[in-house]
Amino acid sequence: MFSFFPKDDHNQTLRIKRFLIAFGSYVMWSTLAVFLHFQELTRLTFNVLIISLSGILAINILLYAMIRTGLNKRFKDPSLTLLQMVIATFWAMVFVYYADSFRSVVLLLYLVVFVFGIFRLKVWQFLFLSVFAVVNYAAVILLLYKIHPESINTKIDVLNIVVLATVLPWFSLIGGYINNLRTQVSKAISTIEQLAIIDDLTQVFNRRQMYKILNDQKALGDRGIHPFSICIFDLDHFKIVNDTFGHSAGDIVLKTVAQEAQKNLRNIDHIARYGGEEFILILTNMETREAMICAERIREMIKELVFENMPEKFRITISVGVTEYQSGEFIQDAINRADKALYRAKANGRDRVEYEPTTTIKL
Ligand code: GH3
Ligand code: MG
Ligand code: MG
Repeated sequence: MFSFFPKDDHNQTLRIKRFLIAFGSYVMWSTLAVFLHFQELTRLTFNVLIISLSGILAINILLYAMIRTGLNKRFKDPSLTLLQMVIATFWAMVFVYYADSFRSVVLLLYLVVFVFGIFRLKVWQFLFLSVFAVVNYAAVILLLYKIHPESINTKIDVLNIVVLATVLPWFSLIGGYINNLRTQVSKAISTIEQLAIIDDLTQVFNRRQMYKILNDQKALGDRGIHPFSICIFDLDHFKIVNDTFGHSAGDIVLKTVAQEAQKNLRNIDHIARYGGEEFILILTNMETREAMICAERIREMIKELVFENMPEKFRITISVGVTEYQSGEFIQDAINRADKALYRAKANGRDRVEYEPTTTIKL
């Protein structure tokens, strides 16, 4: 069924919301135009009014269709901000032509249009639009001077052009500056978001993000259609590595192991640092048997790894505990089961994979 906002596309939804704000401004100005027409305060005839309002409506439907179908994504700026502002400036020009003694009121309209640039435009784009608006405005005044000289009040019209030619570039500088700040803030937010979910040393997900992913998986798993498995692995005799080669050499080993394990996973699987030298693999859509194969593959791969700044013969092994999530249980219960399997892998001599079966399903 058709929905006004796209589902699962945050950016497009945001663009449609912005489009609606712009559309609201058109409604506001159209109402003013209708009011001026019925008050017979301008040269705006009924025909021109109807043609303009239909034109505005048609262009807005077209813009909405472009965003809703995703056609806008083919443009360098998918928000189509500059395009929308140029179109709005064009309508302002039509308004200027018919506004007569209300021409000064239209100057406000330019500011309303420019406010939208704050979402997106750089200073040079703002300046381009300023020049476009001032040239447009001056051209319309010249045209009126030829066709309807009686509607021109030279002093006021020259003053209007001067006001536009000073206020718009000023607005451009301020608007560009605000947009710049906005960009910096959104970059800072995405850095903070990254920092909040990534483990600093190993650059894989941290424990908080691990619980989030596990809870998301639980939501799917509880519907009974998406099984998933958990593997906990722990580096064997890692304390000796630290004691022998130093803590920073140990850090490199940890980071390398985490990174290589991550490379070895499908991109629908996840790895997170559970604690010191323990990691969790979340294997989506995987039952125990496949998870065991995956765990074995990673164990074998890590056993072969060569590390930077370490003796050539140095190798590290891991022990792995595997279990499958059982629909409806607490996440921590599944983790504890994997931990139990890991403990057994350690007890049975390390460098091995063990699994812990799920308990019988409660009815
Ligand atoms: P086992 O095979 O039983 O797991 O032995 P182990 O020595 O690996 O186990 P133990 O838990 O005794 O030691 C874990 C070590 O991991 C101790 C701790 O200093 C080290 N460790 C934990 N986090 C880090 C870290 O971020 N960097 C480094 N270099 N070492 C860490
Ligand atoms: Mg260990
Ligand atoms: Mg440990």
